[in-house]
Amino acid sequence: MRSDFDLIIVGGGLGGALLAMIARRLGLHTVLVERGSHPRFAIGESSTPLANLLLEELAVRYDLPKVASLAKWGTWQRDHPELSVGLKRGFTFYHHEWGRPLDHPPEGDQVLMVAASPNEALADTHWYRPAFDHYLVEEAAALGVEYLDQTELNEVEEMTDGIRVQGLRNGKNVSLSAPWLVDATGPRGFLARQLRLESVRVPGLEGNQGLFAHFTGVRQMAETWGTVPDAPYPADAAATHHCFPGGWIWVLPFNNGITSAGISACPSLAQELHLSERADAWNRLLSRLPTVRNQFGDAQVVHAFHEAPALAYQCATASGNRWAMLPSAVGFADPLLSSGFALTLGGIQRLALAMEKRSPPSVAKLGEYGQAVLRDQEAANLMVAALHRSLAQPSVFNKLLMVYFAGVSYAETARRFHRPELCPGFLLNGRSDFWPRASKLLREGLDGKIEPAGFDLRVREIIADINLCDWMRDPHRQCFGVDLDGMIQSWKRFGASATDISELSARLGVL
Ligand SMILES: Cc1cc2nc3c(=O)[nH]c(=O)nc-3n(C[C@H](O)[C@H](O)[C@H](O)COP(=O)(O)OP(=O)(O)OC[C@H]3O[C@@H](n4cnc5c(N)ncnc54)[C@H](O)[C@@H]3O)c2cc1C
Repeated sequence: MRSDFDLIIVGGGLGGALLAMIARRLGLHTVLVERGSHPRFAIGESSTPLANLLLEELAVRYDLPKVASLAKWGTWQRDHPELSVGLKRGFTFYHHEWGRPLDHPPEGDQVLMVAASPNEALADTHWYRPAFDHYLVEEAAALGVEYLDQTELNEVEEMTDGIRVQGLRNGKNVSLSAPWLVDATGPRGFLARQLRLESVRVPGLEGNQGLFAHFTGVRQMAETWGTVPDAPYPADAAATHHCFPGGWIWVLPFNNGITSAGISACPSLAQELHLSERADAWNRLLSRLPTVRNQFGDAQVVHAFHEAPALAYQCATASGNRWAMLPSAVGFADPLLSSGFALTLGGIQRLALAMEKRSPPSVAKLGEYGQAVLRDQEAANLMVAALHRSLAQPSVFNKLLMVYFAGVSYAETARRFHRPELCPGFLLNGRSDFWPRASKLLREGLDGKIEPAGFDLRVREIIADINLCDWMRDPHRQCFGVDLDGMIQSWKRFGASATDISELSARLGVL
């Protein structure tokens, strides 16, 4: 087959645009096909330390300095003040009971704050997707990616030596061919539909529903409820999670006056609230959560609510002989823990490394990629499902979070010291000294069968080999700041020399 391109990428969101830029940097003649046009609303906004580390690694390795600036609040403000964004210093959790205001000061497990950065300059961000995705696509086009928006593809044909897609753009036929294709169209996307790919169950998350919107006039919890004693960062400069039995609300403020908020609800709660009634359902929800209602008292929806009648999705396959799907097209569990970007960027990194060696990657390489994506998603799905099941039990929920934060913070540190072999797979799912015991606990959590006796000790033992931040020192601790001494001690565990430590400290601006 004579190919028009070296690579076709379908889906011009942040994942497709970033992969397209990398492909161009590797010298591939690349076409990026988008059904809609930018700027446009997109959900999935809150980044994490792991996501930003991956973004930075990709930007440095593939010489994308403008993208590198987007990996931290400080450089973003310096280099891209025109792009709206939100400041995320950490993860803030409030546990509510129906009909009852949250105590102030909070009792026991009612609040948990986990800092993700030692200062604003290094902080993570909420990506305001209308601006962020638009910028990435424009950058991709500037690097020489052929960008076709408003293109509806309706046919795909796999051949022994390539792949061809066809469709319509502005009423005209489009036909594109290449040796391989990457699907970056999100869940239940292009290839899943065209190739009728089988989907599989997502235990514990099936039937969960979402309702979300952008709002103006959302107030800060600091104003309407109060502050958390000893808070390691301003609690509202974070991904706020309002948790309650059967669901949770996210609140992500941007610096343009807009706040993203939404609910993920289990099937019975979604039905009780009649989520399909959108604004009425949202008001019904707020009427049951007095503290959250105060925060949203004057809020106005910017355009309209968006409904996700089935949030969780998992495709059984992630790659074929001539194609691969980005993790975001393979599956999605729940916004809890904001793992989507890290999974997507991890997938892009794997594909980029494969492309460096050979494009198209061999069938075996694409197969390895697909298996790794499925393993990562299984780990993420299990973690989130166990947490969802524990939403009505803050003490269990907060302890399971310690497993999560211990795993991801270990992975971040190992990556900073260029030791990827120490953090195989998302949540260290390839580590035999951690994952078998962690996943057993999570499965018990998912089945609602966690034995309270000895639970704290068990969590402590499970994370013992990867516990860099003394996560279980006090099982009822509400606030986790970034402890610089502890951080440096943890670097020493990775064999960092005095020079490594001073270099990294200077780079991070923490000493
Ligand atoms: C409710 C919700 C909340 C989330 N919150 C978070 C979060 O806080 N943090 C986080 O890390 N992740 C979150 N995620 C996950 C996050 O949205 C994804 O990881 C992220 O959007 C992946 O980006 P992407 O570019 O790969 O896919 P998408 O953002 O889904 O973009 C896909 C693009 O493909 C285009 N497209 C679709 N079909 C076609 C077609 N047939 N042909 C051509 N183009 C097509 C679309 O128009 C779109 O531009 C959330 C997801 C949901 C559902």
